[in-house]
Amino acid sequence: MAADRRIVIENCAIATVDGHDTEYACGHVVLAGNRIESLGAGRAPDGLENVARRIDATGHLVTPGLINTHHHFYQWITRGLATDHNLFNWLVALYPTWARIDEPMVRAAAQGSLAMMARGGVTTAMDHHYVFPQGSGDLSGAIIGAARDMGVRFTLARGSMDRSEKDGGLPPDFAVETLDGALAATEETVRQHHDSSFDAMTQIAVAPCSPFSVSTELLRDGAQLARRLGVRLHTHGSETVEEEKFCHELFGMGPTDYFESTGWLGEDVWMAHCVHMNDSDIDAFARSRTGVAHCPSSNARLAAGIARVPDMLAAGVPVGLGVDGTASNESGELHTELRNALLINRLGTHREAALNARQALRLGTYGGAQVLGRAAETGSLEPGKLADLVLWKLDTLAHASIADPVTALVFGAAAPVTASFVDGRQIVEDGRLLTADEDAIARATRDEAQRLARIAAQA
Ligand SMILES: [Zn+2]
Repeated sequence: MAADRRIVIENCAIATVDGHDTEYACGHVVLAGNRIESLGAGRAPDGLENVARRIDATGHLVTPGLINTHHHFYQWITRGLATDHNLFNWLVALYPTWARIDEPMVRAAAQGSLAMMARGGVTTAMDHHYVFPQGSGDLSGAIIGAARDMGVRFTLARGSMDRSEKDGGLPPDFAVETLDGALAATEETVRQHHDSSFDAMTQIAVAPCSPFSVSTELLRDGAQLARRLGVRLHTHGSETVEEEKFCHELFGMGPTDYFESTGWLGEDVWMAHCVHMNDSDIDAFARSRTGVAHCPSSNARLAAGIARVPDMLAAGVPVGLGVDGTASNESGELHTELRNALLINRLGTHREAALNARQALRLGTYGGAQVLGRAAETGSLEPGKLADLVLWKLDTLAHASIADPVTALVFGAAAPVTASFVDGRQIVEDGRLLTADEDAIARATRDEAQRLARIAAQA
């Protein structure tokens, strides 16, 4: 969109999620090109030029677009399996199937994952992809292409595994890479696709899978590679009691100390889950500004436990929200995670004081931008930031009688999205994607899921 072409949104409630949690009961937002130009109470100023469109958003709440900080797109075609397993048994059950993925499967799964999130108000997505079976094609290219076509801002966390069955790991030998192969392929992905500009649509992070599927060398060398290339680092951390026990047995220390010893604490690092953290672990994350991707539904689905989000926030740890892969969160939606994060944390030790609606919204927006390293550009509605925002329809049966719009969004049913903008471009209208055919994606993902199941059954 031309830099001076304006879209005016008026008559809406606005939750900016800025540093003061500024809200307007009835206000306006002006977009110019791919940026937010101005916002405030009441109608937009008179005399604006080049207004291409004026949206009467009566009955809506406008928020920053939601930001997903942890996902595994390929799992879209293995949903609903191993539904009554804990993490370890679930991994054992699913790896033989996951090891058979190929490029068409990964492309369809990425489209399904992205479509589900985008129509629910996600404007920045991420995919932690770590299964690269030998001869499976250009999986990273397929995922990045799917995100570009959907029109969402995107971080590919280029994952890797080098600890297979022969080294005491869980994945089959042919589904992992060598140490040197993984590092070289990750560097190539960064060089080919990473964009460090302010309005980048594609960024790459270095993302070995987890302490029990990668070698110490891959963690250490991966951290060095990321810092040499100036990109971020992502992995799974402290997800389950079993992982904690594994780290103590193999390395003589807990996961956080192990991460610190391999260069994996820092403001350029974010980790998924972080469920089993003691006070000194949380202190270490806070001191180093290491970020956390909180995945409440997945943690509940796999009976992993409740992450100490209120304690992390109190200590100053950056925390965002994650869907996690849809083999452990079949819904694949982020907007419902606002509610799940709030409810699940209230079951923990802080009870009703654990999180409020504003804090939950912040986790899903600004907190996510922080952990992806993009808080200067997105995550809140402020002049000069990128035009990534959502219009939530709150005047129908589901929400109209709820006292306050942010409370309605977080505590109420999943709110319909009337419009979602990414980089100033509208990608959702009245709950339907403008950038993709949902029904075609549904058919393709079902076909690819069936093809994967057949191949895995024959193996
Ligand atoms: Zn995960």
